[in-house]
Amino acid sequence: MTPFDSPDFDAHEAVHFFHDPACGLEIIIAIHSSALGPGAGGCRYWRYDSRGAGLTDALRLSRGMSYKNALADLPFGGGKAVILKNDRQTDRRAVFEVFGRFVESLGGTYITAEDVGTRVEDMRSIARMTRYVSGLVSEHGVAGGDPSPKTAYGVFLGLRETWRHVSGTDDLAGVRVAVQGLGGVGGHLCRHLHESGATLVVADLNAELVERFVRDCGATALSAEEILRADVDILSPCALGAVLNATTIPNIRARAVVGGANNQLATDADGLALMMGGITYAPDYVVNAGGIISVASEYLGSGSEEEVRRKIERIPVTLRAILERARESQQPTAAVADRLARERIAAGRKSTAAA
Ligand code: NAD
Repeated sequence: MTPFDSPDFDAHEAVHFFHDPACGLEIIIAIHSSALGPGAGGCRYWRYDSRGAGLTDALRLSRGMSYKNALADLPFGGGKAVILKNDRQTDRRAVFEVFGRFVESLGGTYITAEDVGTRVEDMRSIARMTRYVSGLVSEHGVAGGDPSPKTAYGVFLGLRETWRHVSGTDDLAGVRVAVQGLGGVGGHLCRHLHESGATLVVADLNAELVERFVRDCGATALSAEEILRADVDILSPCALGAVLNATTIPNIRARAVVGGANNQLATDADGLALMMGGITYAPDYVVNAGGIISVASEYLGSGSEEEVRRKIERIPVTLRAILERARESQQPTAAVADRLARERIAAGRKSTAAA
């Protein structure tokens, strides 16, 4: 299947395919839009069932990055890289150095950072081959390093704002939250929620992580299948995408869904299904922008930790406007957010054309 034939092709500007025979590496880098700046977004290192599944992820994730960067007011467009993991790749450092070489060959039209399956150490390997990488380290008073705690902070603020919207109070004491995925984002989110007095229900494929949160945060453990239909107030998907779909939505018992995972909705119709089911959905790319805000600040060498924190604290303000507009217009929240993002991108395209 070519990118043009994919149902997820959305007038992407470029889709690059790379192959390195030495370490059996296949990489897809998709750039959705550069209207607001070079395509910025993390690289995902994941074992896909097929190349087609990797392409789908790259197309969907890069579009999400265009929307996320636009609504976070960042001078970047949307891009994303997918590295197809396989058993031949035994030398992790070599994998990310090769990836860095490919990123360099794009001449700064794509800037990379962490995503699922990658960590700060991998960014260091990439940085040996290219300067178009961020999420390396926090130094000289400039914010940076691992973006996941920043993402989690933004998701936490978004979750509290959503709870205020549905319940009239932003007090999370005793509020039951189900967190799916306890990695960089989900783990930090659980700590914020625990400190706020929320009651946690958790699931992860990694049993050690689950045990840690049961022990440290008094969480109740559920299986990966059970977590989506848990009897809770808020569901927080913090693992992979497309978890909100025609199969899962009818079984969701939460009043709201607010999580860090990218592309939670399998299709646009699922945003409508949530609304019809009386479930308030906080659009993922609105609430999970904290990491890219930090990555952008590090890349531009422009912002202290304090400034990054203040920008992240704008997330609930943007979210509130979207939730209220959706309620007034009886539209799905995701549709309202998408429209707003597309308007900003179109305005950026116009001003570039006029310059
Ligand atoms: P991570 O790799 O650190 O953690 C993901 C966790 O999810 C892992 O512990 C994994 O075992 C678990 N998991 C995978 N499938 C699962 C399932 N079916 N059920 C339960 N657990 C499952 O990744 P992360 O950085 O925490 O990112 C999580 C999500 O947030 C991803 O969708 C990512 O794209 C998104 N996101 C991350 C950032 C960031 O700053 N890291 C920023 C924006 C969005």
